[in-house]
Amino acid sequence: MDRAEVTAWVALGANLGDAVQTLREAITVLADLPGVRVVKASSLYRTAPIESSGPDYINAVAEVATTLTAPDLLSALQDIEQDFGRERPYHNAPRTLDLDLLLYGGASIDSRALTVPHPRMWSRAFVLVPLAEIAPALVSEADLAAVQEQGIARSDDSSPAQT
Ligand code: ADP
Ligand code: MG
Repeated sequence: MDRAEVTAWVALGANLGDAVQTLREAITVLADLPGVRVVKASSLYRTAPIESSGPDYINAVAEVATTLTAPDLLSALQDIEQDFGRERPYHNAPRTLDLDLLLYGGASIDSRALTVPHPRMWSRAFVLVPLAEIAPALVSEADLAAVQEQGIARSDDSSPAQT
């Protein structure tokens, strides 16, 4: 029997090179993964780096429907990061592309390689603001208020990739 689809949310971030173009391409690549459909993609947002350095980040969140398990989805996301040439010279270094698994259905996972819900998602405006755009039921006003001092704006050219 085929596995049922699970709704999952993926955060995308980039701050090196043409980050807007990187995010658009990454959403297209995500949509092309076997067992993954992109249901919705948020606008692109621009944020100053937090606990990191370099140029502003471009961030977005995508809702996917997937037949992959959570660990298989994470490893597919990591393969995409590799394909985009991410290097990790040091902790929190600027990166070409960062893909995080925020939520996987209602699952709570705490293994060495994977924690879901993503442990830092509720403290990051660059996750909560795009997530609230496409999944308002998941993010409360209080959640948004808690991160409102973090600077985040829609990117000048904020339309997501066409999927
Ligand atoms: P961050 O995304 O927190 O800035 P990294 O992308 O460098 O930092 O962290 C990647 C590591 O985090 C990987 O080794 C991965 O196994 C682990 N990890 C744990 N939970 C998650 C998750 N929900 N999404 C993505 N990576 C995760
Ligand atoms: Mg990551």
